[in-house]
Amino acid sequence: MADQTRHICGISGGKDSSALAVYLRQTRPDLDIEYFFCDTGAELPETYTYLNKLEGVLGRKVTRLNAERGFDHWFEVFRGALPSPQMRWCTKNLKIKPLEQWIGDDPAVSYVAIRADEANRKGYISTKPNITTEFPFIHAGIDIDGVNKILDDAGIGLPEYYEWRTRSGCYFCFYQRKAEWVGLADRHPELFDRARQIEMKVLSEAGVDGDASYVDFGMKGRAYTWSQGETLDELLARRSEIMTQHNAALERAKKSRRNLPLFVALDEDDDTMPCAVCAL
Ligand code: SF4
Repeated sequence: MADQTRHICGISGGKDSSALAVYLRQTRPDLDIEYFFCDTGAELPETYTYLNKLEGVLGRKVTRLNAERGFDHWFEVFRGALPSPQMRWCTKNLKIKPLEQWIGDDPAVSYVAIRADEANRKGYISTKPNITTEFPFIHAGIDIDGVNKILDDAGIGLPEYYEWRTRSGCYFCFYQRKAEWVGLADRHPELFDRARQIEMKVLSEAGVDGDASYVDFGMKGRAYTWSQGETLDELLARRSEIMTQHNAALERAKKSRRNLPLFVALDEDDDTMPCAVCAL
């Protein structure tokens, strides 16, 4: 009987997983790999564009996995609490659940894009016994330069959002830096405004009238603002201070990582862990 094991490769819309998809296609052309993307419905337009380009390079469809119920549903279930690093209901319900449903009980090998130069980083590793995990970049010693080369040689380069943001993921991702919120306001004002409206709803239901200084941020597991300690309006009012600090951080990153695009360099210098499913 033929081997029924499925081979799956998750694509986040970021550089590492995209490069892995290309790498697997090149090095294991006979393997029937299923490429998938967990679509929260809140991804950046640049991510969707890049996925289309990637499909062209792979000559394969990237299956979009959508949760049966989207952000608005779970936002209600969690009684209007924004997702946060302490309460990451978004990843669990919008990414992991649809993925595990899609795989079901089929035996599967999942290829994860952790690079050789970041072996301490954690990717999404399923606890389901039918899923085993492989790390091709670690085995092949492929590092950040190797990833960039794979994408350049394939002719797709980096996703465009790296011009102003370090990581893939939802437009409202609470892991983004304050300067990235400013970038969102500049590049996608309608998305920034959507995030702002959600935040205003949360604050109004919490009985807070738009001024984050009144919010009790000590309540464990609850978040009233997307960005730590201030509303998006307050953040935008501090635009020039935020961008001054950010430009200084970019200068530092430039010195330490001369051969990388600036926003990639900034991410490489960052030891805060983003969403493991979303950001590889
Ligand atoms: S990208 Fe951010 S907001 Fe979106 S699912 Fe991942 S952690 Fe949550």
